[in-house]
Amino acid sequence: LRDELEGLMHVFIHEKSFEACGGLETVTGHMQRVIAAQACLLLVNRKHDYYRKLRSILLYPTAYKAKDEHGEESVRLGESWHSGSVILAWESVIAGGRNEEDGHHVSLHEFAHQLDQVDGAADGVPELAGTGSYRAWSQVFSKAYKRFNDKVDRGKRTVIDDYGATNPAEFFAVATETFYEKPRQLKEEYPKVYQQLKSYYQVNPLEW
Ligand SMILES: [Zn+2]
Repeated sequence: LRDELEGLMHVFIHEKSFEACGGLETVTGHMQRVIAAQACLLLVNRKHDYYRKLRSILLYPTAYKAKDEHGEESVRLGESWHSGSVILAWESVIAGGRNEEDGHHVSLHEFAHQLDQVDGAADGVPELAGTGSYRAWSQVFSKAYKRFNDKVDRGKRTVIDDYGATNPAEFFAVATETFYEKPRQLKEEYPKVYQQLKSYYQVNPLEW
């Protein structure tokens, strides 16, 4: 996997443009490699198209402020736009990579959104192989999402961060973070979700 990851990173860095934002002077080669490694972790060992819609990665030094469609300002660590950009705060890229078991990983989260958005809809369903896979995926994920929401409503913590209750797209992105960062707990609490993610990502983080 290591050699393959290196190859993917090389293409990724070559194909995507990196832009420094919010007072960051430049996106250094080191920064590009760290981001590419995290993005390509989601591609390794499976059929993919190098995030075909993604053109640019916008990098801020730290959490940044942005306005939503209602003009409401909020502090953000990252975003994924279906128009072809991922926005990240370098600070949180580093934090995601450093602490491997806290379940939080902003880059994995945003790049999972890219995978979800590639078919035009941010609905928590990425491109799968075959119609049968879609049926299985939606059965497992809609059930899990419902069960998860019930728990969140009752104030119960689960291995999946509460933010996943926002909508099915966030549930998929947060479940992806959990899959790579807390595979054991995810498999215990949501074995079918783990199974689906394992067959989608074609890796088994439990063996790492
Ligand atoms: Zn998100």
